[in-house]
Amino acid sequence: MKEGHPLDGPEGLAVYLRYLQETVPDLALPRPSAETGEIRMAGGERVGSPLSPSLSAGSSPGESGSLESLAKVVSECRLCVLSSTRTFAVFGEGNPDARLMFVGEGPGADEDASGRPFVGRAGELLTRMIGAMGYRREDVYIANVVKCRPPGNRVPEESERASCLPYLKRQIGLISPKAMVLLGQTAAVSLLSRNEGISRLRGRETSLPEFPGIRVMPTYHPAYLLRNPAAKAQVWEDLQQVMGWLGKERG
Ligand code: SF4
Repeated sequence: MKEGHPLDGPEGLAVYLRYLQETVPDLALPRPSAETGEIRMAGGERVGSPLSPSLSAGSSPGESGSLESLAKVVSECRLCVLSSTRTFAVFGEGNPDARLMFVGEGPGADEDASGRPFVGRAGELLTRMIGAMGYRREDVYIANVVKCRPPGNRVPEESERASCLPYLKRQIGLISPKAMVLLGQTAAVSLLSRNEGISRLRGRETSLPEFPGIRVMPTYHPAYLLRNPAAKAQVWEDLQQVMGWLGKERG
């Protein structure tokens, strides 16, 4: 663990424990005291302060397993350094019962300012791609690997991706789409745990180890297409495969 990472301190650990308690109810973890709300290890060492009321041990499983409660945890997350420069954490948006989910890299300037994913120029292109597939943007679900903007739109570091990935995986589990499109290298590398370039991965159906029932298609990120419009034809081939999986008429 890197020096200065929020998980170094007891409060950072408490936040992470809070997230795990929230999203993995059956996991054996230190639980807050019923009297004081403090979190203590088995030996009695205190590792965290009382939980917020909405995330306390008394939360109902229905509430604690929802996208809404996960979004609240993300909005307050300080697990990595990206929290210190963000305006808004960008949780993701769309149909919570979507059959099709898109996953990108992380928020850019427009997304950071608005708190919504894919709203800049790349987002406009993604919206057109979704339309070409026969869906409206609100029919699908759109999320990113990291929820906070990396300064200068740099690629998120491995430690930042590792801190944030449990949120995305929980989102995927809650939405449980039939198909997922991974947009660009960062999304593909993070979720597939394969260190191959997107140009080799794209266009080939794959799956996620944790979610074997979801059909997954890696393809280029819309931001790449803005710089390399010729690659749009390859992406359209990839998206047509996905349309076939979902019973949509292919062009
Ligand atoms: S990028 Fe993810 S892990 Fe890092 S602070 Fe934001 S929500 Fe938390």
